[in-house]
Amino acid sequence: MNGSGVRPVFKGLFFVRSLPGGMLRIGEASPNRAVEIADEDGWVERLIRLMDGTRTVERLWRDLAAAAPSLTIEDVSEIVAELDRLGYVDDQGLRDECGLGPDELERFRANVNYFSYYSSMGSGPWGMQERLRGAEVTVIGAGALGCGVLLNLAGLGVTDLRIVDFDVVELSNLNRQMLYAEKDIGRRKIDVASEFLARFHFRSNPELVDMEITSAADAKKAISGSDLVVLAADQPYWLLERWVNQACSEAGIPFIAGGMNLCEGQVYAVVPGRTGCAACIDLQYGQDHAEHAAFLSDFRDSDFRMPSASIAPNYMVLAGIVGGEIARWFTGTAEMRSAGRVLAMNFDTYALETRIDFARRIPECPVCKDVY
Ligand SMILES: [Zn+2]
Repeated sequence: MNGSGVRPVFKGLFFVRSLPGGMLRIGEASPNRAVEIADEDGWVERLIRLMDGTRTVERLWRDLAAAAPSLTIEDVSEIVAELDRLGYVDDQGLRDECGLGPDELERFRANVNYFSYYSSMGSGPWGMQERLRGAEVTVIGAGALGCGVLLNLAGLGVTDLRIVDFDVVELSNLNRQMLYAEKDIGRRKIDVASEFLARFHFRSNPELVDMEITSAADAKKAISGSDLVVLAADQPYWLLERWVNQACSEAGIPFIAGGMNLCEGQVYAVVPGRTGCAACIDLQYGQDHAEHAAFLSDFRDSDFRMPSASIAPNYMVLAGIVGGEIARWFTGTAEMRSAGRVLAMNFDTYALETRIDFARRIPECPVCKDVY
């Protein structure tokens, strides 16, 4: 770090106060990243007040020098670098250079503030919002989980969406599929969802695909060109997941899948080339549960069809986890927690546990063998 073009801005997320004994406290209790630093002369506090994004490091030093003539520009550079290392500083220059318009900076101000908890002078939170805007996400299934995920994507500012579904709204959907209303009964879900998104955000113009996926070839069409796929449908049971897994593995497109079974919700993400795939999960599960293959075979041969048995709150939580993973993927604030892990959310206890770890692919998996 030197005195060149960056214009440090102290993040507005952190409360700063002087303590007795010449100490300065930044932030409060966890997760607010509290630290206490020595500031006997009070110039660190003054420096922080001056870091409003209008001054370069050199300018900060000059403005401080009147009160602290012994201070060198190296001193100021060092403390700015230290505050940056601790996670308290962004570079205002990155805001000015970003491609977000004034309406987006205003609309997504709280998103950007949130991302700035994770950003630094080198990364900045504005580019994170920009990456969400540029993300091309395909959502397969506009049912309960799909509705929740679409709502989350709208709030995150993901507008380049493709929605794949073939169903119409039914009265019995209206306990958990919260994009739809009574007046929509009989209409295509993709149309109603699209109207909501367009009403919510003028930039939203989703591509609507009226298709029932019945093969890997269909899945390939559905996911083509996406940056990320959300699999939010589960029929035909097991097969749809395999088709989407195969298509995404071949295309090198990451996908996040979620599903609900009574009081348990599951989420996992496959990142081709980095994690195992859904077929690896099967292989691993089969190795650990000898009866699994027989169950699958009997289940598929039977005409048993589990009735919908779920409540909106559970889907909201599950969709929130999927939405959070999507935000992590595009912003880089953190690794996706579900990448290479089947996360199971127990809605009786609200505990989230790793059910299956497939971070490493199963060597004999035929689906992802060519991906590595
Ligand atoms: Zn695999």
